[in-house]
Amino acid sequence: MVIFDTLSGEKKELPTGREIKMFVCGPTVYDYPHIGNARTFVFFDMFAKYLRSTGIKLTYLQNITDIDDKIIQKAKDEGTSWREVSKKYEEIYRANLEALGMDTQHMQFARATDYVPEIIAQVKHLHENGFSYLIEGDGWYFDISKYAGYGELAHRTVQQAEDGVTRIDDSSKKKNAGDFCLWKLSDDPTLQLGDDGLGAGRPGWHIEDTAITEKFFGPQYDIHGGAIDLKFPHHEAERAQQEAASGKLPFVNFWMHAGFLTIDGKKMSKSLGNFMTVDDLLTKMTPDEFRMMLLMHHYRSPLDYTEQAVKMAKDSIHYFMVRVQNLKNQAASNENEKEFEEAMNDDFNTPRALATLRSCTDPAVIAKNLASLGINITVNIPPDVQVLLQKRELSRASKQFEQSDALRKEIEGLGYIVEDTPVGPLVLPKN
Ligand SMILES: [Zn+2]
Repeated sequence: MVIFDTLSGEKKELPTGREIKMFVCGPTVYDYPHIGNARTFVFFDMFAKYLRSTGIKLTYLQNITDIDDKIIQKAKDEGTSWREVSKKYEEIYRANLEALGMDTQHMQFARATDYVPEIIAQVKHLHENGFSYLIEGDGWYFDISKYAGYGELAHRTVQQAEDGVTRIDDSSKKKNAGDFCLWKLSDDPTLQLGDDGLGAGRPGWHIEDTAITEKFFGPQYDIHGGAIDLKFPHHEAERAQQEAASGKLPFVNFWMHAGFLTIDGKKMSKSLGNFMTVDDLLTKMTPDEFRMMLLMHHYRSPLDYTEQAVKMAKDSIHYFMVRVQNLKNQAASNENEKEFEEAMNDDFNTPRALATLRSCTDPAVIAKNLASLGINITVNIPPDVQVLLQKRELSRASKQFEQSDALRKEIEGLGYIVEDTPVGPLVLPKN
């Protein structure tokens, strides 16, 4: 299996015959997850499911950023504590994950605040190695000029590094504009999560990821994933931190980034009024239809959410359901299975893989392969309904429409509806 690695800009072979360790950046829990977040998380869920379906042993770890500028700001806006904010939105995130059928993470999520000793240890280690400095009364900063590879992941120079600086990293006393905060000092007792010689404070944004992955995976592992907008400065900073702390290169073998999601060609934003939460999304499509919409686009490509894209995903689910129901007992074709695998193993090329399924004549192969990505298209039709369906098809074939209508009603009486589609009848349980 080959996977595209953002750092090298090339597809590389995923090692076989041993466990694969993957970490994906989780959410900052300060707001309702939106459809762009869902694209990233559902993609990595499908990726994990597919890897496991091929027999690969995968450990999938995700963090939850439960202390951060945005959370603190939200608490101020809502007149509550940051702990209340992160607790509330973590619960919403978990409910959304469940609703979207995501269950591949290896363990309960690693919350930043549960790993403060590990974070402090890494900050101290960076200082011992000469990569950080203290700004009195402010915090500990990573000196990007000390780490030669800074900017390689995002293909930026040190001068361009300031583009991605966030509020927590803002200080006029920094050595380089792009230096980022590792540990933020605070006089506010509610923001003093630890000290241990650093001074009382809280973690910067980037440090939690590497402290958590070092604890569970060690200083080097296989795959680091996330949304494309995390590539800089977040992932750049992580790479610098971990390689500077351990001296071991490379930090990870694969940087995987899921593409942007736009709505009707526009960037999603609250000010444009096109902000779509996962809850909104699930009023418009089922989780299976959403997965199908993602699969119809390559994961690295931008995805534009439009009414048309929603309709195409729904049609595609319908199409495969009809195929599976109407292709009973066809001969298996090994050729199709091979083509599907080849497409998937080429950097998760799902548009091509779906095309192979469209020409597949074995319903079991279609259903199995979609199930390997978390899409369920099989409807369990009881034998008595199946008998009526066959009778109805026969009467339709011989143009006895009165009889076929009567059979449709009989089927409805048993709790199923029949829809005649251009590719054949589709049976669905009545809601
Ligand atoms: Zn992260």
